[in-house]
Amino acid sequence: MTGNRTFTMIKPDAVENGHIGAILEKITSAGFKIVAMKYTQLSKRDAEEFYAIHKERPFFGELVEFMTRGPIVSAILEKENAVEDFRALIGATNPKEAAEGTIRKLFAKDIGENAVHGSDSDENAQIEGAFHFSGREIY
Ligand code: ADP
Ligand code: MG
Repeated sequence: MTGNRTFTMIKPDAVENGHIGAILEKITSAGFKIVAMKYTQLSKRDAEEFYAIHKERPFFGELVEFMTRGPIVSAILEKENAVEDFRALIGATNPKEAAEGTIRKLFAKDIGENAVHGSDSDENAQIEGAFHFSGREIY
C-alpha cells in the first residue's frame, strides 16, 4: 500500500443505527474508491491489538467493549492524498467539535461512539489494512 490508500471502519454504533449506506455514499461521493471491504465483528483480542497504542488511556476498556459489541464494516480506500483527505471527511474525534457536513458531525453520538475510524498516517494505513485484509482480498 502506498500513500494513496487509507483504512476505515464503520463502527458498531453507526451499523446499529442503520447508517452503513449513507456513510458509504459520503465516502464514494468524495472520490474514494473501495479496494477492499468486509462486514465482520472484532473479537476482544482483535480490538485490543488494533487499539494497542491506546492501552494506557483511561477509555481503553470502554473502547474495546464498544468496538466488539456488534458488527462493523472495514474497508481500504484509494484516492490521492487518502489519509489526510479522509480525516477531513470524517471530522474531529469528538463530533461536537467536528465541522458541518463531516461524517462524525452527521452520524456520531459522542467522542467514544463516533461512527467511523480513519487511519492517521500512511504507515498506520498500511498496518491497519494488513491487520484486516489478506493480499488476496485487496483489489
Ligand atoms: P481518532 O479515531 O479520531 O483517530 P483517537 O485515535 O484519539 O481518535 O482515539 C481512538 C478512538 O478511541 C476514538 O475514535 C474513539 O472511539 C475513542 N476515544 C478517543 N478519545 C476518547 C475519550 N476521551 N473517551 C472515550 N473514547 C474515546
Ligand atoms: Mg486515531
